[in-house]
Amino acid sequence: MASALRPLRLLLLGAPGSGKGTQTARLLKQFPQIESVSSGDLLRQQIKAGTPLGQKASLYISSGKLLSDELITKLIITNLSNRKWMNSSASWLLDGFPRTVKQAELLDAELGRHSAQLNLVVQLDVPENVILERIENRYVHVPSGRVYNLTYNPPRVPGKDDITGEPLTKRSDDTYEVFGKRLKEYRRTVTPLIDHYAKSGILEKVTGETSDIIFPQLVKLVSEKFGE
Ligand code: ATP
Ligand code: MG
Repeated sequence: MASALRPLRLLLLGAPGSGKGTQTARLLKQFPQIESVSSGDLLRQQIKAGTPLGQKASLYISSGKLLSDELITKLIITNLSNRKWMNSSASWLLDGFPRTVKQAELLDAELGRHSAQLNLVVQLDVPENVILERIENRYVHVPSGRVYNLTYNPPRVPGKDDITGEPLTKRSDDTYEVFGKRLKEYRRTVTPLIDHYAKSGILEKVTGETSDIIFPQLVKLVSEKFGE
């Protein structure tokens, strides 16, 4: 019999294109009590809506640069508190934030005030050559953040989202040139971030070339944390 669930507060870490969005969607399906927020999806929604933040974000995103730590942290923390996620019994996962030590420290402090600290950080470790092959084939549905890949995970109707039938788009930062910059930014920022979470004893790593190989490892870690 499954024991009572403990709240899960998970961060998924990984290079651009490592499958954070795909793994998130699969986890939410498997564990319906979990909710998620993706910093990149939030920013793309702001861009689509043409807000001042979206206009600013689009300049950074299209050149593969990170937004300022203060700006992105404020956006995410506002989002978390609007959704009542600071309530210590809520289970959620973050995709794409924090991605610098500064962001991690700001988030730790805020969550600490609510006794809702992260309790699991999983690094998705996918070889870079595999990632580079995927990017060309990636399409997204901006309103939901759903991700498709023409090779591994094509939409049922070409160019359309499976659920809403709305058009899919190619991300402006999924070009060879910008993607290279994003990978470079990731390599520059990831080691201190990994060290930060390793120190707090909540870091795990899963390795594999495909989402199908990664997913069961992730499920195992999440189930252990949940006490199921
Ligand atoms: P992918 O979605 O392919 O796994 P990614 O992690 O590079 O890769 P997103 O998380 O969608 O992509 O982020 C896209 C862009 O949004 C980043 O390149 C950056 O400009 C901005 N961004 C997203 N999250 C943050 C963050 N935590 N701090 C600063 N900028 C961010
Ligand atoms: Mg993503």
